Amino acid sequence: MAGFRLADTDKETLAEKYFCIFCLLLLRDAMQTSCGHFYCQSCLVNLIQNATSMLMICLNDKKRLQPNEVFADKFMRREILALVVHCTFKDDGCIWKGEVRHLENHTSTCEFLKIPCVHPECGVLVKKADLTEHLEKECMYRLEKCKFCQGQINLNRMKVHHENECPGHPAVCDKCRRDDIPRGRVKHMLLKLKLALLLFKMTIIL
Ligand SMILES: [Zn+2]
Ligand SMILES: [Zn+2]
Ligand SMILES: [Zn+2]
Ligand SMILES: [Zn+2]
Ligand SMILES: [Zn+2]
Repeated sequence: MAGFRLADTDKETLAEKYFCIFCLLLLRDAMQTSCGHFYCQSCLVNLIQNATSMLMICLNDKKRLQPNEVFADKFMRREILALVVHCTFKDDGCIWKGEVRHLENHTSTCEFLKIPCVHPECGVLVKKADLTEHLEKECMYRLEKCKFCQGQINLNRMKVHHENECPGHPAVCDKCRRDDIPRGRVKHMLLKLKLALLLFKMTIIL
């Protein structure tokens, strides 16, 4: 897990040394290198250049680091957990303020927390409280009833659905040129036509 996400004001006011050089977030489980640079514990894997020797390269000064040249900085960790910060969603209106150690406990239940839309393709983040409205009014991937076949179709696919697959959408019958017959029935009529033709041929042979 990368560092702690902060509100913009905290990102601007906290000293640079508290931020991970890799993820640029507030250090989580700070690790210090022998060249004096800090990374989150989980971000260190991104510095590894050679999987066998576990040789790492510092992003700041390109120093080559052996695993024993990187250590957990307990002092830095304590200092960071005691920093007083605003809720990550301050700009959305949350007034919570507290120590970093309590930050994620708060944000996980914060009323301004944004969650991804239930349709994975959508990718939009919405406040929990606004999700229903997003799904009903905004989401391009919401299900809507097709006015021709009454089926539930993803809104973004409605045009394709109408043009290619909707059994209720009017389609041109290439036998009689009528264009007001639902596609499903055009096929049906075609089948009937073929069957009639077949019977006709058979009667001629007989
Ligand atoms: Zn360094
Ligand atoms: Zn990091
Ligand atoms: Zn909050
Ligand atoms: Zn959506
Ligand atoms: Zn349809």
